[in-house]
Amino acid sequence: MQFADRLNRLPPYLFVGINQRIAELRSQGQDIISFAIGDPDLPTPVGIIKHLCCAAQDPANHKYPETKGLPQLRQAIAGWYARRFGVLLDPDTEVLPLIGSKEGIGHIALCFVEPGDIALVPDPGYPPFSLGVIIAGGELYSMPLYEWNDFLPDFNTIPEQIVNKAKFMWLNYPNNPTGAIADVGFFARAIKFAKEHNIAICHDAAYSEISFNSYKPPSFLNALGAKEVGVEFHSLSKTYNMTGWRIGMVVGNSKIIEALFHVKSNLDSGIPQAIQEAAIEALSGFSPDYAIARNVILQRRRDELVHALAAIGIEARVPKATFYIWAKVPLGYHSVDFATKLLDEVGIAVTPGIGYGKCGDDYIRFSLTIPDERLEQGVTRLSHWHWRKK
Ligand SMILES: *Cc1c(COP(=O)(O)O)cnc(C)c1O
Repeated sequence: MQFADRLNRLPPYLFVGINQRIAELRSQGQDIISFAIGDPDLPTPVGIIKHLCCAAQDPANHKYPETKGLPQLRQAIAGWYARRFGVLLDPDTEVLPLIGSKEGIGHIALCFVEPGDIALVPDPGYPPFSLGVIIAGGELYSMPLYEWNDFLPDFNTIPEQIVNKAKFMWLNYPNNPTGAIADVGFFARAIKFAKEHNIAICHDAAYSEISFNSYKPPSFLNALGAKEVGVEFHSLSKTYNMTGWRIGMVVGNSKIIEALFHVKSNLDSGIPQAIQEAAIEALSGFSPDYAIARNVILQRRRDELVHALAAIGIEARVPKATFYIWAKVPLGYHSVDFATKLLDEVGIAVTPGIGYGKCGDDYIRFSLTIPDERLEQGVTRLSHWHWRKK
């Protein structure tokens, strides 16, 4: 049997390796505290689950779902965007539900990229941005995100011959893994660049609801002209602790939405309908107090961890959004060495920044999605860690 060559172009999925290593140490009886996985430890709110259970009993939901999503779901998504961002969307042409946003993120490259075409992706960045492009046979150009530029790409530094072959660009704010944010002014600059060079923009807003103090991240669609050039991906995963239920959406430019629907309608049969009904409940029936209470918990964890890191001489910016701490590894280390040292010496697992791209290699990522008591144990271990001694 012969496998396609494209499999060789795919790196192993980042978290597989880390999980194996953690499992190994655990099987040797070690207590490993994992800050490595970006998956909420808190459960899906009870009201949403009740709705899901009820909907599961209705035989109407036992059949193939509508690939385009229930009309009521598309309306609920449009309603949420109107209330949350003041963005108006046509539920029939500018909204498409996804089987988790990662599904759409992976497939959208098939809409833009012919073999040899270029996609502009952030480095560091969420791995599926690049993997979708590789599977589509495209080429990647990495836009470096530097701390001195607040982890925003500089479009002026992209060489002309790259720009000319670029078909679309990925942006992601609030950003995984850096925790950086972008304002509407930045989105406006991206839109100007995209219009000048006929490049589409895909913005990933998965973390728009995970933010601190009174900061409320904007939508890409809040920028003038956004709908002419791009779409925004969003997901119920982080917003409502629903990673396990697999439901997200893409909204914005109707031509892009139509193209992605064309691909998807040939590949999948939509989101199980009971889950669509749970999502309608989440998006329309749910009080904003829920997000506020959840963010208070995450903010307390954020502050404890950043504090503990600072006390032992490890620098990290205090993020205004996302549940990640992007910490700088000390001079003389790379991300994998330092993550390994941390795992071996104090039993703490983090994600090495190199997993998100070359520019991530000076950093490690801590996720705040671990129960309070485990986080506190981790913080205690960190406070007693003398990483400078051999
Ligand atoms: C978690 C995450 C998502 C959400 O993925 P789903 O498939 O909707 O669960 C999307 N983008 C980024 C950058 C993420 O970290």
